[in-house]
Amino acid sequence: MLELSTPVKFVKRVGERIAAGLATRGVETVEDLLYHLPFRYEDRLNPQPMAELVAGSMASVIGEVRGSALLRTRSGPIFEMTLGQGLGTVKCIWFHGTYLKDKFKLGQMVAVYGELEPSRSAMAAAAAGSLGAASGRFKMIQPQFEILPEPGATGSDAEFAMLEMGRIVPVYESLGGTTPWGAKLTSKWMRRVVWSIFEELMEGKPSGAPSMTASPSWVGSTSPEPVPETLPAALLRRLHLPSRLEALKAVHFPEAGTPMLELMSSTTPAHRRLIFEELFYLELGLSLKRRRMRERVGTAFTTGPSVREAIKQVLPFHPTAAQKRVLGEIVADMRRPQPMRRLLQGDVGSGKTIVAMQAAIIAMENGAQAALMAPTEILATQHYLSARKLLTGAVSPRTGQPYRIALLTGSLDPAAKRQTQGRIMRGESQFIIGTHALQEDKAGFSNLGLVIVDEQHRFGVQQRFKLMKKPGADGIATDPDVLAMTATPIPRTLALTLYGDLELSVIDQMPPGRTPIVTRRTTGEHAAEVWEFVRKQVSQSRQAYLVYPVIEGSKDDQPELDFPHDEEPASESPSQPATRTASASSSRQRTVSLKGTASAVPKNVPRKTAALAAEGKFSTRKSAKTDNLFATKTKLRSATEMFDDLRTGALAGLRLGLLHGRLSADEKEVTMARFNRGEIDVLVATTVIEVGVDVANASVMVIDHAERFGLAQMHQLRGRVGRGAAKSFCILMTGENVTPQAEARLDAMVATQDGFALAELDLTQRGPGEFFGTRQTGLPEFRVANLLRDRAALELAKVEAERFAARPDPAIPPDQLAAVWARLKHQWQRRYALVEA
Ligand code: ADP
Ligand code: MG
Repeated sequence: MLELSTPVKFVKRVGERIAAGLATRGVETVEDLLYHLPFRYEDRLNPQPMAELVAGSMASVIGEVRGSALLRTRSGPIFEMTLGQGLGTVKCIWFHGTYLKDKFKLGQMVAVYGELEPSRSAMAAAAAGSLGAASGRFKMIQPQFEILPEPGATGSDAEFAMLEMGRIVPVYESLGGTTPWGAKLTSKWMRRVVWSIFEELMEGKPSGAPSMTASPSWVGSTSPEPVPETLPAALLRRLHLPSRLEALKAVHFPEAGTPMLELMSSTTPAHRRLIFEELFYLELGLSLKRRRMRERVGTAFTTGPSVREAIKQVLPFHPTAAQKRVLGEIVADMRRPQPMRRLLQGDVGSGKTIVAMQAAIIAMENGAQAALMAPTEILATQHYLSARKLLTGAVSPRTGQPYRIALLTGSLDPAAKRQTQGRIMRGESQFIIGTHALQEDKAGFSNLGLVIVDEQHRFGVQQRFKLMKKPGADGIATDPDVLAMTATPIPRTLALTLYGDLELSVIDQMPPGRTPIVTRRTTGEHAAEVWEFVRKQVSQSRQAYLVYPVIEGSKDDQPELDFPHDEEPASESPSQPATRTASASSSRQRTVSLKGTASAVPKNVPRKTAALAAEGKFSTRKSAKTDNLFATKTKLRSATEMFDDLRTGALAGLRLGLLHGRLSADEKEVTMARFNRGEIDVLVATTVIEVGVDVANASVMVIDHAERFGLAQMHQLRGRVGRGAAKSFCILMTGENVTPQAEARLDAMVATQDGFALAELDLTQRGPGEFFGTRQTGLPEFRVANLLRDRAALELAKVEAERFAARPDPAIPPDQLAAVWARLKHQWQRRYALVEA
């Protein structure tokens, strides 16, 4: 007999071979299969009459095959099939459709799904002013299709005819893998499998839906329930949500009369129940983690008058109200005996550094060490220099001595590194600034009280935890306070999940005296004007950045850091070269995001392509081809080439510098220092300068091939200018092949400087999984929930989880409580292992 935990290979129609394919998609058990929800539904009970169809919409249509033909054209074979219903027709067209040659028989009933376009004859009729335009002649390019069972069908086709006809039919994304005879796992296959699973699960059980009341699925039942409930009955009752079994049945095989709109938007009670369940357990886990953190031992720092005095003497300017507020929140945390876990969020240039420095002084004035970790050597070095500048001349009221600051990066020579590590270990260094080298095992601290992580989003979530857990060399098991900082405005939904274990502080105000940055778009053809503009700015003693997507040639396969996600252009037909501007992440994005539910399909994937890909009819071949990140015929301008070009060409006479990640640390430091001192007019760079670089005199940021940059990245880059009082400019220069998604990004950059607005757009374009780039591994993958769509459900789940963790409803019987904790353990360990790390 089947149970939820039964391996899929024991399910009818699955077997070893298919099971192996399913395993690659993370589907291992019956439960996994049941949580692979349909991503859309077709109403085959009330199919839309062709006469009511509207061009331009996505539609599912049922009709009979009136004819088909394979046409040879210069661009390849095209298969046409005409579907009819009364006077109406839909002509279906498949490029490279040779494989469909013998697929359809005259008179066969077929269901197709795709975007309706007016057919040419209909358009001609419309142009001629004839009413014939309304007669229902349409075409569909590359529709999905399903041949419906014939009335006289025999065998399993007859048995399952009721799953395909006369009802609301679920449509699934293909799970990949193939049948032993090499066929794709279609929706039809999925329906039959899921149906059989329900039949087997319910074998010997009283038929009908289980009741929503407290009994029988929990209490006093000796026979195991086929689909054990995972949420307390009292909670379900209060939220008006159905049982787990009912919900699963209803999402796969909706009852007649279920509103199609609710089904398609995943808002039926059944959907809401499954989404809530998933988010509830996530939030419960996070909530427990926060609670456990509060039980840990940290340092209770004091902030008496002498500490205040210490801070006051170094502050170079009046903090903004927002800076004061967040410092207050940080200080309150630091005074508590529990370790601080706080995320400080503030847009580029909002002044997070000085807040961090103040926190560091508090730690030092309490006799503890403070560490500041930055994602790049350039930034670490810059922080080191500005910390020295800030603290030079300052005397610690506690020791009567100057503060002792150290820089620890990976590129220090071994001897120097050992020396620095020795000073850190002996407690001679008080403020240690560095890269992830700080996490190396030998870097023991004598008394680490505060860890500041700058540009947190550039580190993986795991790294964040690794540093936190480092024990002090003296063996005392206190946790240091942790302040993570990020300029990436994190939409609340993500903050609640990815950073759900951190408290949040936000700097929502810019330091005074900033003038807005003027952002303009232009194309590579107008480069001469751009260089003219740069010259003019330099002649006014300003400095400029020129940023390129790659270091060397267009064949450069090593883009700087986590170069993001440029989508390939919407290919209407597979005959177009798939490699035009494709990048590895675009294909990765597609495969990843299609794993979820319907609306997990990001907006940047054309609906048609997405639908096809979802059915597994279209995507794999293309994705495989696009895997080479820079398999592009387009000529990409690169930092190194342009540096050579401009130096002797358009910008001859100006002092140019080159900066990228492949230079040695010394070279980087020298160049950065020279730019800082104004000895370089124009810094030609890659995205190494994306974070942290702070040169107030720079007033121009030119981003070349801006179409290849993600929103967050462009916003960060733009934030490098506009740091002084001078008017600043950001010029977005594009190459060829600007996709519609890139267009949207560029328009948004011109339209707003609000990091939050850009982040929201970024999130919708890329989907949560890609939002932080591929380095960020901590985001849990959801089976049914979708963070873009289910924000409200997430908020509800958080509230309910908090409540449950604090004090479960006394009405919940002990066995139900136990079941929740058991489920949490199971789910947390299996699915969110990374978050737990
Ligand atoms: P970010 O938040 O991006 O790390 P920074 O901390 O680098 O921003 O600050 C940006 C610039 O603004 C720095 O040059 C800093 O000295 C300056 N700044 C920060 N706070 C203030 C303030 N309250 N008044 C004036 N200038 C400030
Ligand atoms: Mg910063």
